[in-house]
Amino acid sequence: MQRRSLLALPTLLLPGLARAQATPQEAPLVVASFSILGDLVREVAGSQVRLRTIAGPNVDAHSFQPRPSDAEALRGAALVVRNGLGFDGWMDRMVRAAGYRGAVATATDGITPRMMAGHAHNHSHGGGAERRQNHSVGSRQVPDPHAWQDLRHGIHYVRGIAAALAAALPAQSGAIQAAASSYATRLEALDGWVRAQIAAVPEARRKVITSHDAFGYFGAAYGITFLAPQGVSTEAEPSAGDVARLIRQVRAEGITAVFLENMGNPATLERLAREAGVTVRGRLYADALSEPGGPAASYEAMFRHNVGQLVPAMRGGAA
Ligand code: ZN
Repeated sequence: MQRRSLLALPTLLLPGLARAQATPQEAPLVVASFSILGDLVREVAGSQVRLRTIAGPNVDAHSFQPRPSDAEALRGAALVVRNGLGFDGWMDRMVRAAGYRGAVATATDGITPRMMAGHAHNHSHGGGAERRQNHSVGSRQVPDPHAWQDLRHGIHYVRGIAAALAAALPAQSGAIQAAASSYATRLEALDGWVRAQIAAVPEARRKVITSHDAFGYFGAAYGITFLAPQGVSTEAEPSAGDVARLIRQVRAEGITAVFLENMGNPATLERLAREAGVTVRGRLYADALSEPGGPAASYEAMFRHNVGQLVPAMRGGAA
């Protein structure tokens, strides 16, 4: 915003400023749908591109509503990066609305998604045929879009983004591939660290409650059972029956790791914790990074923060 209003000033009045901005203005524009993809682009392309992230820090991308100025940002972009698997479908609508015809990289292309119960989870209590019919609709399977929560998939994202950036910026392809390769090596080391941290928690203690089903890939990769009152999208309201079932499970199994997420509404989780008699431990970063300077300002910091919160909470020490 601020940059745009500065550029709107007549450049004759600000010759120094205009010169200072000449170089970044010439760098190609890359538009990422949400903050985690933006960080991956930044790691791979650095200052060789201008980066615009549409759904920023702490923003819930599931229910995101782009503004007309977001669609305008696509004009002149060299590359658009989106997650896919139904997470950021609004990005496709923006691409169409802006008449953008350039390259679009879908970070989850080539990943076999986990399938989850869909969000049409509205049990009817009308009884009879209607009830059976609604129940079968409720168990519809949809792909889980949160693949970035497994670092091996994160490495796949990085490789795909690097290939798309190299194609869009052939002159910089060597530097892009080198940056991607050293970043992937760091993510592999982080993956090993996450495994070692979680291996130190007894298997029977590895149960965590979060607001929505954002950690299915994390749980499958690192051996934790995540339970959530809300499904794979934050757009569906959790049912009273699902919340009551979770409360019984928390009590019966002595689950101590109950977490809020950084985006979205904490009300259901806070009520669940109160009724189950457990303490909310803190905040996990699920679908968005923190603000710069926060505890999860990058994709790597997000894993370090989440694991640092999860491990002591699963062990069940004092909150
Ligand atoms: Zn989500």
